[in-house]
Formats: sequence, C-alpha cells, structure tokens
Amino acid sequence: MRLTRIALAASLALMGVHAQAQPQSQQPTITETPLRAHLSFLADDLLEGRGTGQRGGDLAVRYLETQAAVAGLKQLPGGGYRQSVKIEGSKLLAGSSVHFTANGKTIAAETGKDIVFGTASGKTEVKLDAPLVFVGYGVRAPEERWDDYKGIDMKGKILVMMVNDPQPTAEEPNRFDGAAYTYYGRWLYKYEEAVRQGAAGVLLIHTVPSSSYPWSVPANGFSHERFHLAGGGNPMEGWITEDMARTLFAAGGQDLDQLRARAETREFRPVELGVSAQAELHSAIRQIDQYNVAGIVPGSDPQLKEQAVIYSAHWDHLGIDEDAPANDKARHIWNGAIDNASGAAALLVMAAEAVKHPARRTQIFLWPAAEEQGLIGSQGYTQHPIWPLAKTAADLNLDSMNFVGVTKDIGVAGAERSSLYATAGQVAAKMGLKLAPSIPDLSGAYFRADHFNFARAGVPAFNVGSAVFSGDGHFEFEHDQDASLAKLVAFKKDYHQVTDKYHPEWDLSGMVQQAQFTLNLGYAVANARDMPTWRKGEAFGLIKR
Ligand SMILES: [Zn+2]
Repeated sequence: MRLTRIALAASLALMGVHAQAQPQSQQPTITETPLRAHLSFLADDLLEGRGTGQRGGDLAVRYLETQAAVAGLKQLPGGGYRQSVKIEGSKLLAGSSVHFTANGKTIAAETGKDIVFGTASGKTEVKLDAPLVFVGYGVRAPEERWDDYKGIDMKGKILVMMVNDPQPTAEEPNRFDGAAYTYYGRWLYKYEEAVRQGAAGVLLIHTVPSSSYPWSVPANGFSHERFHLAGGGNPMEGWITEDMARTLFAAGGQDLDQLRARAETREFRPVELGVSAQAELHSAIRQIDQYNVAGIVPGSDPQLKEQAVIYSAHWDHLGIDEDAPANDKARHIWNGAIDNASGAAALLVMAAEAVKHPARRTQIFLWPAAEEQGLIGSQGYTQHPIWPLAKTAADLNLDSMNFVGVTKDIGVAGAERSSLYATAGQVAAKMGLKLAPSIPDLSGAYFRADHFNFARAGVPAFNVGSAVFSGDGHFEFEHDQDASLAKLVAFKKDYHQVTDKYHPEWDLSGMVQQAQFTLNLGYAVANARDMPTWRKGEAFGLIKR
C-alpha cells in the first residue's frame, strides 16, 4: 500500500501541519528492496542469531551503526550510535541447595521438580536462613487502592506470592482491568516490588491459570543463565509448584486455599507462615557489555524539535548454541528472521526515509539490545534516556512483522491506552485501512515487548501490528485470506525456534505496509500540535516523568 501524494497532502492538512512548513516534493515512502536486503542480511547464518553476549550480536550492532551512518542519522550526544547497557548474567551452579524447616521438621524440595531459584544480586555466594511470609499477590497499586504489604517491614523475609493480579468481583468487575492481565500480574513486577521491600527473596506459586504457561517454562528458564540489568536484584528469586506451596503452608498450620481467598480482598494482610527457608546459592556471574543502537533525525520546528518521537525494534535474538559440535553449528542457530530481524530491518528503511523528510518534532530510531532476555536494553534506555522522557511524545515499537502479504487492517493492540489510538485510526483511514478489532489482553502481551518499558516510564507506547502474535483470525488479508492466515498460524511453531529463518519467497508487501503505517503514525505524532496523552484512569498516566 502506497500513499498518493494528494492523500498525504490532505492528511497532513487534517493533522494541522502547515503546508508551507513541509515543502518536500515527495513523502517518506517505504520500499521493499532495501527492507528485504537488510532482513536477509540480519537473518543470515553469518550473524549467528544475534545473541546477547555473542559475536553475532556484536556483528549486528556493527551493521546497524554502519547503516545508521549511511542513512544519515545524527549521532547521539556523546558521539556515535551506541548506548552502553550493562548486563549481568547469573547461572546457579551444582551444589546449590534449599530446604525448608517448620516446627523443627525439615521439608525437602527438589530443584527443578518442586522449586526453581537463582540470584539476581550479582553475588557468587548467597546464604540464607529466612522466614516465609505469604503476601497474596504482592501488589501495591495506589490507583486501585490496593496494598498487600500494609506497610509491614519485609526486610530479610522470603515473600511467597501468587502470580496474576486480584480477580474481578461482582461488585468490582473492572478492578485490575477485569479479566485482562495488568503489569501487577507479571513476575517481573513482583520481583521488582520485592527489591523495593528489601526482601531476602521471592517465591512465586506456579499455577497454569495464573501464569498462562506450564511449570516447564520457569523450570527451563532457571536451568539456563538468566540476564538482568546490572545493579542489585533479589538475593534469591524463583518459583514453587502449587503442590510444594500446599505442603509448606500445611507444615506451618496454614491452608493455601483459605489464604488465597483472603488475598482477593483489600483487607488482606501478610501472613507469617511459620516456615523458614535455608538456602545456599553458588552462582556463576558474568558482566556483559551490550549496546543499544540509536540515531536522531532533528525536528524542523524551532519549538517542537525539543520533543521527540521514538521508533524502536530490538536487534537481538537467541543466538547460537556455542557448545554445538563445530561441524553442526549451522543447525543450532536461532536466526530470528521474523523475531526481530524484520523489525530491525524495517526501522533502517524508515530511518533512511525520515532523514530525507524531517518532521516538526525530532525522531529517534532505537534498536534495543537484549529484548529476548527480559526487555533489558529498553529498560537500560529508559533508565538513561538520550532524550528527556518528559519530552518524549511516544514510542512506536516493531517486533515480529507480517511476512504473508498486504492486509486490509492493521493491529494496534495497546494503542487504546492512549490518544495514539485515535491518531492511529486517522492514519489508517488515510491509507484505506481499518484498525484490527481489539481483543482483551488475557496473556499480558502488552508487557512483553520493548514499548512496555516506555509505558512504565510514562511515555505513551505500543507495538504496531504484531500480526504474528494475533494471527488467530484477527487479520484480514487482501488476498487468499485462509491460506494467508494459515501461514501466520503455522509460524507459531517456528516462534523462538531455530526454524525462524528467512525465506526468499516471502511476500514482504505486508511488511512494507506495516512499516509505512508505523512511519505515517510517527509523522502524525511528530507533526501534531500536542503530544499524545494517556487514557483517563490508565495507571501509566499517573507516572511522573
Ligand atoms: Zn522474541
């Protein structure tokens, strides 16, 4: 889908852009040739899956900064296109142990089967003897008038908590967004809150309904090296199975189900379980220097150029299995062609167009590192932003783009949290597109891509059109609806597998369309009179930036 000049002139007029301030003869236009070239390169086996802390990742950064320079992006204030991100890797070693004690009796727990744990403290040796306290959902949410901690001192305790957030009731069907997941439901939030509480550790009670995944997911995660931003996480964090929780609660004379029911009310107070944990954690810790890549297109308006729109797309994927036999390495590369060579490539093409067509506000193109390791690069960015967050209008993220063909609609899930939704609707209409119908976010998708770090820093943000993850029938293709949808659905078995590879026969017209929409939306934001605002009642809107 390509915009005609007339349609765009009309659209810019409607957006309140002064025609004489934009004297270009041509509008920014995404084309397929450079997009395909960048995509096929970034997804090549030579890039070895762009792994965090691996050579392939370093090559990807080198490529992106080279292309940023070729495109003519302005360098960052300190020079160059790199922003350092200090990452800590932590892996629990054999010989580590944990058991529990209640009323003088020892309760064994088998690592991997009953419990998984590790440290985020950056310390190679952690020794703990600490009481367990059940803290319900472990949530402090002033805007929901909810505080599971009630101001009680949690220093030195191990917090046992439920995943997800307080469930809707007949009286309050909309509390914590009803059936949808809020950030308070995510393990990431719970670990962070435990750090703020000064706790010795966190153990999350696993259930399939509350987490939306089987025990094998945390079990797998903790059997590998885990990454986080360097600088003081929990001495111990992990998960226990529901059976283990039941055993521990009973050992202390408590009933898991009763306490869980109590935790659904605002009156809930933390409960000492009468059980303590004795743990020894021996960990291999390593410090890894990674880099976000970013470049700037200065705005053309003397005042508005102080404000910026950010476009982001993570460059990393899962890398290569460095222990694979040398003659078999190629079969152990997680190329991440869709996730997210596609977004990284699209951003390069968008940046090159933006350089030729400055908008009134400044535009920043950002390729975060280490997204697959827990959105670490974008978290590093919002902790040390290159542009003041208060003057950052929006973040539009691209992660895993459409490789199937042109659509009649575009996915904007998460946009409805802010005025970006209305703007997206206007931009889509100009392109002859509809917005894909929104579906309740039951699995917390909004919290699983880089835009989320901007949201929780108070910047309106969402991921544009992740057709791949909403491919269950919410997209209408221009051609061959059934076959096209089937391709999207089939990708689910390639997601985060070595089979996420680039195929030259891919129809990239849908990717071009998606990139064009994102760029048009960015321009609409960059040229508008006012910055986007959060929807009334949206928790992210209360964040001071
Ligand atoms: Zn991914």
